[in-house]
Amino acid sequence: MATTTQTEIKNWINGEEKAAAEGGSEPVINPATGEQIATTPLSTQFDVDAAVSAAKDAFEGWGQSTPQERSLALLKIADAVEEAGEELAQLESLNVGKPIEAMREEIPVCVDNLRFFAGAARCLEGKAAGEYMEGYTSMIRREPLGVVGQVSPWNYPLMMMVWKIGPALAAGNTVVIKPSEQTPMTAARMAQICAEHLPQGVLNVIYGHGKPAGAALVSHPDVAMVSLTGDVATGKEIARAASDTLKRVHLELGGKAPVLVFDDADIEAAVEGVKIGGYWNAGQDCTAASRVIAGPKVYDDFVSGLSDAVKGLKLGDPLAEDTELGPLVSSTQRERVEGFLSRVPSHGEVVTGGKEPGGNGFFLEPTVVAGLQQDDEMVQREVFGPVVSVQRFSSDEEALKWANGVDYGLAASVWTRDVGRAMNAARVLKFGTVWVNDHIPLVSEMPHGGFKQSGYGKDMSMYSLEDYTEVKHVMVSLS
Ligand code: NAD
Repeated sequence: MATTTQTEIKNWINGEEKAAAEGGSEPVINPATGEQIATTPLSTQFDVDAAVSAAKDAFEGWGQSTPQERSLALLKIADAVEEAGEELAQLESLNVGKPIEAMREEIPVCVDNLRFFAGAARCLEGKAAGEYMEGYTSMIRREPLGVVGQVSPWNYPLMMMVWKIGPALAAGNTVVIKPSEQTPMTAARMAQICAEHLPQGVLNVIYGHGKPAGAALVSHPDVAMVSLTGDVATGKEIARAASDTLKRVHLELGGKAPVLVFDDADIEAAVEGVKIGGYWNAGQDCTAASRVIAGPKVYDDFVSGLSDAVKGLKLGDPLAEDTELGPLVSSTQRERVEGFLSRVPSHGEVVTGGKEPGGNGFFLEPTVVAGLQQDDEMVQREVFGPVVSVQRFSSDEEALKWANGVDYGLAASVWTRDVGRAMNAARVLKFGTVWVNDHIPLVSEMPHGGFKQSGYGKDMSMYSLEDYTEVKHVMVSLS
């Protein structure tokens, strides 16, 4: 797909490109320059109806396909994504502003995830079959739900699409997915790739805003399940909309990951971990290491170590090989982050960064804010930018209480050399993922998902595949 202002993205419905029927289109912006790079359709109910209808028709065949057929299709898609890896990396770097080297690291992760679900498709099983009442055999079937409506965010457009379509298709569902209005570029390429290996109508992609396009999808009566990766407020709205028809809801929402650095930790390793985990994708990551809670003896060294480390991050053109930090996704997102910085209370201190480096793109310097307290806005709310806050704790109990003392529960990390302390923290922390002496790595075999207001339902792993199925009990009389 050429990436010029002439690139006109279209909806992908029933195996064909279609312009939005009545909503027109809008520009897609390169966040590193502020320039237009494409146009994207503004879908409405009409386009959503067409896509859902195509997915409903396609379910008649795909829902009856064998696991082997679905597995082979996903394996071919994985191979094609691998082959188109550099092109996909370039597109997403251009559209999201991610450093190209970081994008190149994401491609094998996406490919692996598709291959995992290709394998998982053939391993889905009911837990038991047997005679639980005399004269009857009972068995469990796991069945696809039907049409799944999926809505994804702008921070990892390609990876989130992969995490969503892999388990949904592997389980035998058909899909209508709406990427974020800001980042449609890799979804458009994925639609073309997938179409070569899937029957018509099995995967449909519609573009447009949360309203009207997303809202029409999540409230559509023929959509059996809705899956969102996005903001907590969006998750609540979608759960409310889905309640009218009692759709199954799968929500991967925001995070505010605590990083517990105990006095016995390897401080250099912790600084390096936060330098990566807090500023990866310019901190626009739901598991970003954004909230450090450091022990009284290591606090000062940690703050100065992290400040020195992030000052060295190379900020610049995302397509340059040596760039480590790109822009934020939009001017709105940068203003939002700057709003948090302008409200840092007087007991807090912006130790480093906090300014715009200049130029047309939506860049912001890597920032460290020290001295914050538990009730401060920046500790409680997701900033979603290259900003890490640091608090000083006085006891293990206080550290754990602060870590759990937010509405979010997606991910946390614990840095210590004491195995007992690490195990106890892993037990007490109310987060869907707890890392010990690292922060950020994920594997396809293990689940990713939130506790509390970070949502419910898992991505990746067999748990995700199960989320996209229904359990049926079949009871057969033997007489
Ligand atoms: P967002 O909630 O604004 O948008 C997400 C998607 O929802 C977009 O496609 C948007 O168009 C759509 N949408 C918005 N309102 C809608 C509505 N009423 N009905 C249907 N669809 C609607 O989120 P964002 O700003 O694109 O992404 C950032 C958020 O995503 C952050 O909060 C981040 O933490 C979260 N996120 C979570 C995970 C995770 O795995 N938990 C991963 C990545 C991002």
